[in-house]
Amino acid sequence: LRTAVEQGRALHRRAAELFFRCLREDTRARQAREYLSRRGLSDTVTVAFGLGYSPPGWDFLTERLVREGYAPEELEQFGLIVPRQGADGYYDRFRNRIMFPIFDAQGRPVAFGGRVLDDEIPKYLNSPETPLYKKGQHLYGLHKAGPAIREKGIAILVEGYMDVIACHQHDIPQAVASLGTAMTPEQGRLLLRYAPRVLICYDADRAGIEATVKAGEILTRLGAQIQVLTLPDGKDPDEFLQKHGASSFWQMADNAPAFFSFCYSRVASQYDLTTVAGKVAAVRELAPQLLIIPSAIEQEANIQWLAREIRLSEAAIMEELRGLSRNTK
Ligand code: ATP
Ligand code: MN
Ligand code: MN
Ligand code: MN
Repeated sequence: LRTAVEQGRALHRRAAELFFRCLREDTRARQAREYLSRRGLSDTVTVAFGLGYSPPGWDFLTERLVREGYAPEELEQFGLIVPRQGADGYYDRFRNRIMFPIFDAQGRPVAFGGRVLDDEIPKYLNSPETPLYKKGQHLYGLHKAGPAIREKGIAILVEGYMDVIACHQHDIPQAVASLGTAMTPEQGRLLLRYAPRVLICYDADRAGIEATVKAGEILTRLGAQIQVLTLPDGKDPDEFLQKHGASSFWQMADNAPAFFSFCYSRVASQYDLTTVAGKVAAVRELAPQLLIIPSAIEQEANIQWLAREIRLSEAAIMEELRGLSRNTK
C-alpha cells in the first residue's frame, strides 16, 4: 500500500508531465508559447524547469487523471482540483496559466505555481499546503542550484520563479527563490546547508527592500555572511538580466555591500549624522541588527566599522547596546 505522500508524488509527476506536454503540443497553448518567447525564455531553460501550461476550461486535469485511476478526493487533497460549490463534482484549480512545477531539493515536483498570461489578478496562483508541500519550507530552484551553490560557496537569493529561470539562462546557476517576498528561518537553514554566504537580490521596489531587511535578519541570526545587491531603476533580476546581461550583473555583485552596511546606508539617509541626536537615533535603529549577530568576533568587527563610519567610539556604541539589550531582556 502506498502512503499518501508517495501517491502525492506520483500525482505531481503525472500532472507536471501533462502540463508540460500541453505547453509543447496543444494548439490551445499557442499564446502561452508566444508569451514565454516574448519574455525571452529559451527552449532549453523552459525544458530544464519543466514549465507547462494549464489550458482554459474546467476539467483538463480532472478528466485525465480520474480516467487514469486517481481518486478525485486525492486530487483535492493535493490542491489540484477544487469541489464545486453547491453541486457535485470538481473543477481544475489551475486554468489558462503558465505552470511552474515547484520541486523539492531532490528534484521531485511537490506543488505548482501558475501565472496568468496578462495583467489579471492574482498574477500567480500557488498550490495550497498539502502533505507534500508546506509554505516556507522549499526554495524554488534549489534542486538545480544546489551543486553550483556548493561549488561557488555562495547562493543568490531572489524573489520569484522568473528571476531564478532568468539567472539560469544567463549562466548564473546558483540562484534560488523564496517565492514571495517573505523568507522563513526554515528556508534560511535549508539554504545554509549548501553554503555560508548569501547574496540577496530581491526586487528593487519598496516591498523587495523591506523583504531584504527581513531576510537579512533571519540569515544573520543563522550566522550567514550576507551581501545585498540592489538593482537600478526598481528592476528585478529577470528584467535586469534581459536588459543588461550577466556581466553587468556580476559587476554590480562585486560591489554589493555587506548586509550591515546596507542597513547603515538606509539609516544614514534618514538621519542627520552630523548631530548627536542623529547619531543616537541611528545607533539605536541599528542596534537590533548588531545584537542578533551570533559570532562575538563578527559583532565586534561590525561595531568597529560602525564606529569609524559614524564617528563615535566603539566603547560608546557598546555601552548603548548593553543598555538596549538589558531593556529587551
Ligand atoms: P513576473 O516577472 O512574471 O511578473 P515576478 O516574479 O517578477 O513575476 P513579483 O510580483 O515580483 O513577480 O512576485 C515575486 C514572487 O512572489 C513571484 O514569483 C511569486 O512566487 C510570488 N507571488 C507574487 N504574487 C503572488 C500571488 N498573488 N500569490 C502568490 N504568490 C505570488
Ligand atoms: Mn516583487
Ligand atoms: Mn519579474
Ligand atoms: Mn519581480
